[in-house]
Amino acid sequence: MNSKELLSSKSLRITDFRISVLDIFLSNENAVSARQIENTLGSFDRITLYRTLKSFKEKGIIHEIHFSDLDKKFALCESSCSEDGHQHSHIHFHCSNCNETFLLPAETPVPKNLEGFQVSSVEVQATGVCKNCQS
Ligand SMILES: [Zn+2]
Ligand SMILES: [Zn+2]
Ligand SMILES: [Zn+2]
Repeated sequence: MNSKELLSSKSLRITDFRISVLDIFLSNENAVSARQIENTLGSFDRITLYRTLKSFKEKGIIHEIHFSDLDKKFALCESSCSEDGHQHSHIHFHCSNCNETFLLPAETPVPKNLEGFQVSSVEVQATGVCKNCQS
């Protein structure tokens, strides 16, 4: 799905700016930091960017990733996310060597049945050294 299709599937008005921001997510396999978005855009209006990211979050297009000692990062959502809520079941892996944050495939098992709790969304934050940095 390209940026335009994604925007219209989420009933967001298509603007050049929204397309440029979404293209950054679609062209990056891994999570992107706020700084990476700003650097890629070059010149932009900070408030427009803030609002754009906010509406993407509200529509279930992207979500925030927080690792305690890092810049905030954002990543594309799973197709199960919508404006009714986010439903994730994946692991974020942050490499302490190259600083990339990977989204592990949805098939990677995460705890879904927690005794007595109704789980709707699971996000696991893992840190270590990624495959690329081990060789
Ligand atoms: Zn989501
Ligand atoms: Zn995630
Ligand atoms: Zn790495």
